[in-house]
Amino acid sequence: MRALSGVFSATLLVCGVALCLWQLAVHPDTPLPREWNPTKRLYLDDPVTWLTAYKLDVAAGDAQMCREVVAASDIRATMLDPLEVSAQCGIENRVRLSGAGQSALSPLETSCAVALRLAMWERQGLQPAAQRHFGEGIARINHFSSYNCRAIRGSTTRMSLHATAEAIDVSGFVLDSGRSLSLKADWARELAFFEEIRDSACQWFETTLGPDYNALHADHFHLQSRGWGTCR
Ligand SMILES: [Zn+2]
Repeated sequence: MRALSGVFSATLLVCGVALCLWQLAVHPDTPLPREWNPTKRLYLDDPVTWLTAYKLDVAAGDAQMCREVVAASDIRATMLDPLEVSAQCGIENRVRLSGAGQSALSPLETSCAVALRLAMWERQGLQPAAQRHFGEGIARINHFSSYNCRAIRGSTTRMSLHATAEAIDVSGFVLDSGRSLSLKADWARELAFFEEIRDSACQWFETTLGPDYNALHADHFHLQSRGWGTCR
């Protein structure tokens, strides 16, 4: 009996604390910083906390919120109408992306979710890693595009996430000084840099495949906004 009332009191206490925290989060004058508040959406320039990856997933999965986050950020993107090609191919939340943060991209059409995740990687992974390894920033991200109505290579039936622009293939970078780095030519020589940014991509994308995965990815990172966390 005494044990039971102990459990009851403990449960009551936990519920009370949870309720207080929730009240704190939703109160209009909450002192809780935005980046620690699970009821506030993602802002790309907020400091990274334990909640950031969760907030990114929420924004990437919500068409309207994704557009709001992009519009309030330094992502250079134009919102476009959906592209409807077939039952398997098209871009639902379509944007035309030409840059994120300090990096330019040759313009491409992709999904809002990919634009958002790429911008997060640029800010939190690429730029800090380039500064650490080369003492300068990244000026350009080179890519092999995002939308492509095709099956997974090596499969005849399973469609690639490129068919819905939920993936992007990144092939290399140009540093501020003009120096080029490509996965194909520089992987072995700049392994520490490439491994660091690959691991960072795994934080912000749901699937990351690169040269360590298989020969089909020897010259690019395949970065997906959906998946089960594969990181190789
Ligand atoms: Zn790919």
